[in-house]
Parts: sequence; C-alpha cells; structure tokens
Amino acid sequence: MTAYGPLRNGDPLIGTRCPACHVPFTAADWVAEIPVGPGGNPDAQLAARMDGRFQVVAVPVHWPCHTGHRAPPTAADTAPEWMRV
Ligand SMILES: [Zn+2]
Repeated sequence: MTAYGPLRNGDPLIGTRCPACHVPFTAADWVAEIPVGPGGNPDAQLAARMDGRFQVVAVPVHWPCHTGHRAPPTAADTAPEWMRV
C-alpha cells in the first residue's frame, strides 16, 4: 500500500473524516488509499465484470488506521511526488 503525505495546509482532505476512525484529517497526517472497487461508474463496473481491469475508486484513511503503525511511513511506502494527491 502506498502512503501519501504529509498533508499540507489547504489539502481538500483536511477537515473531512477518516472512514476508519471518524477523526478528521489534519495537516501533517499521512494517508493510505484503500481501493474499494469500480464505484458507481457503469463503464468501470462493466470492465470489472469483463476483464478485471478498471479505474478503481479508493478511500483515504489515516496511515495508522491502515497499518497500525503510529510512526510515519518509510521511504519504501511513499509514492513518488507525481502520484501524490
Ligand atoms: Zn483514521
């Protein structure tokens, strides 16, 4: 799983609630995105049924909510800058 962060001031996630713990995201939090499936997009749903390749909907959660680790992720866990949300 890839980690994103730390969240910067102004990030649209800040103030929204983590679906795992219901605590709002704040600046400096690290986030993991959990893939959940094709979502409501009919084309993605069809692709998922046909060949399993589709653009996935992902839900952000706090890094510790995903991994159980309170420490920030290591470099191996982090996404390249161009992939960050
Ligand atoms: Zn959380």
